[in-house]
This record gives sequence, C-alpha cells and structure tokens, in this order.
Amino acid sequence: MVKSSPPNKKGKLTIITGPMFAGKTEELLRQIRRAQYAQKKIIIFKPSLDNRYSETEITSHINNKITAIVISKGEEIRAHLKKKPKTEIIFLDELHFFDPEIVKVLNKLVKQGHQVIAAGLDQDFRGRPFKSTAFLLALAEKVVKLTAICRVCNEEATMSQRLISSRPALVTDPVILPGGEKIYEARCRSCHVVNKLIASVGEKLKKGIY
Ligand SMILES: [Zn+2]
Repeated sequence: MVKSSPPNKKGKLTIITGPMFAGKTEELLRQIRRAQYAQKKIIIFKPSLDNRYSETEITSHINNKITAIVISKGEEIRAHLKKKPKTEIIFLDELHFFDPEIVKVLNKLVKQGHQVIAAGLDQDFRGRPFKSTAFLLALAEKVVKLTAICRVCNEEATMSQRLISSRPALVTDPVILPGGEKIYEARCRSCHVVNKLIASVGEKLKKGIY
C-alpha cells in the first residue's frame, strides 16, 4: 500500500485575545520579532479603521511599533500574498475590526499551509462576543487569552469598559469606537457597567413614548 505523503507545510491558527490593556498587541509584536529572528518570511496586516496612533504601524499602548500593511477588507490579504507567495507567517492586529468574512479568509489560508497569528478583542464594550474573534477562537489550534487589571478593584480584568464623559456608555452606542485610555478602561466582570437604563429611556424617546 502506498502511503500518502504528508503535506510539506502545516498550517496553524493562533489567536491572541482578551480585553483592552491586556497586552495583546505587545504579545503580537513579540511573536513578530521572534519570527523575524528565525528569518521566517512574514507579512503583517492591520485594519484601516484603527488609526489610534499610526496609519502604517502596529503600535502597542506602551509605544512599541512595527510597520504593517493597512487593509480595509480581509479579502485584500490574498492579493498581497500573490505578490509574496513564499510567505510563511501572516500576522494580523485588531481582528475584531474586520467583518466576519475574515473568518473564511484566514481559515482558508491556514488550510493552505500558512501560519496565521491574529490578535483582537474577544468582547465588545457591552461584554458581547465579537463575531470574527469568536468564530476564530473556536477554530484556532492555539489561543492566548490575556487579562488586564481592573481599574476599579485591581483584580483580574477580562472586560473593556467604555466611558463617555466619565460615565458608562449606553448599550445602544455603536459597537466600534476606536479610542485609547480616554474612553476605555479594563474592568472585571463585577465592576463592568453598561448603561442600560438611560438606553431604554433613550429608545423610548426615539420611539416617541415620552
Ligand atoms: Zn473589578
């Protein structure tokens, strides 16, 4: 019996996740530097929506940076890979900013034998899972879940608190609102607050109930 030959490349998906200020981008940058040290052929992407600190660099909250290709859709990754077909590892930051199409794109790349390492938030400011991250967490070979420190009680934080004028944001606020320490802080489950009360009044106002 002829044994089928093993694939010469084995794809692997790694997801780095957690709340804001947990060091996700720091971990991604560490893995990028490791790959560079090992002389791997790599390519780095970030979404165009995230312009917090730099348009062309991945920058962590503690100001470490590395140059990345800015894309607005997951499909653009394939076009860039055509130009660099020998790429071994694909890095991606701010995974949660991409639409769910990114799940298909990354999954296919892994099947084709690429290594994909992506970092992103697992929950939005309301504590609800981001679809793209949630699906990829289920499909990943490896998950690095990081935690931060709660700004209220100093315990382990797994959630991102959005504050608008120092008050918890409304549950009906837009899910995507890039911003750093001015409007977000890490919180634990007990200290995390979403302003549902005012939201319901706001909703009623909108509907003309009041
Ligand atoms: Zn807390």
